[in-house]
Amino acid sequence: MDLLDGAARSYAWGSRTALAALRGRPTPSPHPEAELWFGAHPGDPATLRSETGDASLLDVVDSDPVGQLGSATVDKYGARLPFLLKLLAAEEPLSLQAHPSSAQAAEGFARENATGVAVDSSVRNYKDSSHKPELVIALTRFDALAGFRDPKRTLELFDHLAVPELAPYSEMLAAQPDSSGLRALFTSWITLPQRALDVVLPSVLEGCVVALGSGPGDFVPELRTVLELGEFYPGDGGVLAALLLNRITLEPGQGLYLAAGNLHAYLRGTAVEIMANSDNVLRGGLTPKHVDVPELLRVLDFEPLDAPVLDPEGERGTPVVYPTPAPEFTIARVDLTSSDTGITTAVAGSTGPRIVLVTEGDVDLVAGGRTLTVHRGGAAWLSATDPDPVVTTASETARLFVATVG
Ligand SMILES: [Zn+2]
Repeated sequence: MDLLDGAARSYAWGSRTALAALRGRPTPSPHPEAELWFGAHPGDPATLRSETGDASLLDVVDSDPVGQLGSATVDKYGARLPFLLKLLAAEEPLSLQAHPSSAQAAEGFARENATGVAVDSSVRNYKDSSHKPELVIALTRFDALAGFRDPKRTLELFDHLAVPELAPYSEMLAAQPDSSGLRALFTSWITLPQRALDVVLPSVLEGCVVALGSGPGDFVPELRTVLELGEFYPGDGGVLAALLLNRITLEPGQGLYLAAGNLHAYLRGTAVEIMANSDNVLRGGLTPKHVDVPELLRVLDFEPLDAPVLDPEGERGTPVVYPTPAPEFTIARVDLTSSDTGITTAVAGSTGPRIVLVTEGDVDLVAGGRTLTVHRGGAAWLSATDPDPVVTTASETARLFVATVG
């Protein structure tokens, strides 16, 4: 059991205040801080601070996989940590994206290897052969687009917009208000020639302004989001695609699980994110990064989806698990106050390594006669052989997350 320092990632969409404030550092930060990675990803491993000095978690795991991960994890996933835990702060919208299934990832990785595109090339889609299920848990209110909305409701949105340029597309979806109709409409929008896009898009944005100006009504967050995306990414087909997706706002503590093929874009907010240790992202727009529409179309799931929001509740002082079908990870939340004693961080059924991430207050982890203090924004690494610590806090309230193998 040792302190684990996250690896900071600076992307343009990050925040100069959210992560800095969370970690008790001066704001604004010199660069936009987008993500803090707590894991053993070769791209940016976290740093383990032990009595013997600082070491990369990747090196520590590599030098003793069975001791750190446990034999069950190594047998199932090989000698690597199967999940990556992050703190994420989005000030601006992120790209429109989806992740492949295991079969799609294995096939795509082999295919790109065969064509000789370097794994670190910027035009490479498949950086590894793994799927990438992910779960985001809001720390502040968190806005996102995720999954295709029920087409009947989307047709109501089109009617509400009353934009003549949308009429042919509205008819197209009305003729087939199901996953096939969504596939056809999304495909035609995302492949629309720029000339056509430059006609439809300004009309849609104008329609949003008019609809919002007509007073309080339906679809306000949806229309505002389309307008905002239109400002950030002028002339981008992804702005039209946003009309088809569920517009979701998570309240703090709520989670959103993104299965393979789910088209999504994070819009704004601070969150904990956990995912299988993979880099496989297919982008469809709203980004200056590599976009591969044909490949995105291969992996997308067009089945309409209710907003897949997770809001688990449990007994106070025990870990509350966010249930997902992902085998690579399990994550649980623990809330406690200064008067709580004997609170365990043990997640039922877990035998692997754990990362304890503190997002509110300062906590003491007590195990094996040792006490480790973890401050807000910090984390601790527990190998498979470390016992589950008991947790207390001197802060009025504290919140922490326990991430482990599923
Ligand atoms: Zn994603």
